[in-house]
Amino acid sequence: MHHYARLLAAASEAVSLAGSVCRQVQQSLEQVRAITKDDKSPVTVADLASQAIVARILAERLGNFELVGEEDSGFLRDPAHAPHLAATVEAVRCAWPDATESDVLSAIDKGQGNPAPAGFWTLDPVDGTKGFLRGQQYAVSLCFIERGQPTVGALGCPNLPRDFGAPLDLADPHGCLYTSIRGQGAFERALDNPGEAPVRIRRLDHDPDQPISVCASVEKEHSNVSDTDRILQHVGRAGEPARLDSQAKYAVVARGQADAYLRLPTRKDYVEKIWDHAAGALIASEAGASVTDIFGRDLDFSHGRGLSRNSGVVCAAPRVHALMLQAIEHLGIGR
Ligand code: AMP
Ligand code: MG
Repeated sequence: MHHYARLLAAASEAVSLAGSVCRQVQQSLEQVRAITKDDKSPVTVADLASQAIVARILAERLGNFELVGEEDSGFLRDPAHAPHLAATVEAVRCAWPDATESDVLSAIDKGQGNPAPAGFWTLDPVDGTKGFLRGQQYAVSLCFIERGQPTVGALGCPNLPRDFGAPLDLADPHGCLYTSIRGQGAFERALDNPGEAPVRIRRLDHDPDQPISVCASVEKEHSNVSDTDRILQHVGRAGEPARLDSQAKYAVVARGQADAYLRLPTRKDYVEKIWDHAAGALIASEAGASVTDIFGRDLDFSHGRGLSRNSGVVCAAPRVHALMLQAIEHLGIGR
């Protein structure tokens, strides 16, 4: 198998299994809350279990690799969090039946790897934690970055319906998996069906006679709501943005359901994390969307864990992307 195809097969398997682990935890939200006596712990358990599964599958399939994951095992190693450790191991076992506590802890810590220029994986084991807790959209996002460029990506969206007519704020029972190798297009299949052949997705450019549909974060601290409104007003023909959590927004633009995803800085000093964008940006651009920061610069993944050379993100159909950048410049947003 070609090198990148082998990486993609490993990433798809890892993300599918991690997605089923997250789904399992989501189904037992109340139980996890009761055991750990903490409202937010279900996402902690899902995050950590998801990272453990991804690290385990990459190790099995690829041997050596560098992984830069959002999580580490510090929280679970604290004796005060023994119930969380037990719940995490239980969640992991639905995909890795004989995992022990120490297996799980060391798998999680594989995520403390180096963002080496020659190539590394970056992982957000549960992107959109607020969406996860609300039973809405979240994602498992895994991407191989080579010489600063997202090269192989797998984005699992466990609650995202494939049907454009289904409401985006409800959980779909199958979910979607998006995959891409740079230069080879973007593909979609049901997340819970590894046997299904992935179908290529291509988004058309925006038809100027049609309204412009936009999506943005649910969480007001993650993207500037008033700047979004100013841009949409300036561009015209855009309604109220659809609000959803996680990189599912990139997927929704990639498959042509929305024309743009706007992520506008809420403060000057926030640096976007690579794992919040790598897989989503690769998939959207391979599907035919344009992806840059708010000043039209390419996203630069060659500076460690943050997109420190960029400011916000604009992902859109090419014509809409051009309109948005003009509006941003005209309105002086981000200056
Ligand atoms: P979303 O679901 O699109 O709202 O994005 C969730 C991601 O937002 C999380 O994974 C965080 O890494 C990230 N995040 C946290 N604080 C901020 C912030 N101030 N600005 C932008 N993104 C943030
Ligand atoms: Mg995230």
